Amino acid sequence: MAPRLSARKAKDHTVGGKVEAHCHNMVNIENVPPGGALPPRHLGSYWRMAILKIARMGHPVLRRRAADVADPAAPEIQTLADDMLQTMLDAPGTGLAAPQVHVPLRLVIFRVPLTEAEDLAGDEAPLTVLINPLLEPLDDEMEAAWEGCLSLPGLRGLVPRHTHLRYRGVDLAGASIDRTVEGFHARVVQHECDHLDGILYPQRMTDLTGLIFESEMRHRIAEARAQERERLQALQAQAAAAAAEI
Ligand SMILES: [Zn+2]
Repeated sequence: MAPRLSARKAKDHTVGGKVEAHCHNMVNIENVPPGGALPPRHLGSYWRMAILKIARMGHPVLRRRAADVADPAAPEIQTLADDMLQTMLDAPGTGLAAPQVHVPLRLVIFRVPLTEAEDLAGDEAPLTVLINPLLEPLDDEMEAAWEGCLSLPGLRGLVPRHTHLRYRGVDLAGASIDRTVEGFHARVVQHECDHLDGILYPQRMTDLTGLIFESEMRHRIAEARAQERERLQALQAQAAAAAAEI
């Protein structure tokens, strides 16, 4: 996704419980090396290898509406979230929705580390398991940025999303989550929750010339730099003309 400038803290209205890595048997995210699961010696008795197969665009599970999770605190939901975390770290990815691992339930996981939030502009997101989510765009402002998806490997799309978002749901303990966020954090949540309604990011695109292979991103970056150079040259020319008139 396109780099941007600043990061802000999310407003967290969570009621009744911790919102960060709250999974009882889940590995501590701070100990996870970038891009990979932990070696067994760090996991101790928690070690279990459960990298799930990721559904790719065209599989029916990605097109259907997922069902509500009846009991967010059920052990099998904990196991699902645990396995999804392992799968997301292995991929690696920023977020993952249960239908992407062939489970048609309304559960997503995501995280936006502060370093990424700073690069991509927007709020940091702690590792979050969001169950039965409800999304509420706070205004009409939209912004376009690059997205990828583990179900569309190798592709990138320039996707418009709501900039300001409130989202609610519950975590694995059944405690409510209620956050007001913006920028990349808001984008990730919209992307992941779209999966619960059978929507993939190309369906949100308004201009499919922005759907490209990741390997060709360098051309778009070069174009953007050339446009920026032209814009700066035009500004310099304007400034020079203004100075000449004085
Ligand atoms: Zn996706």
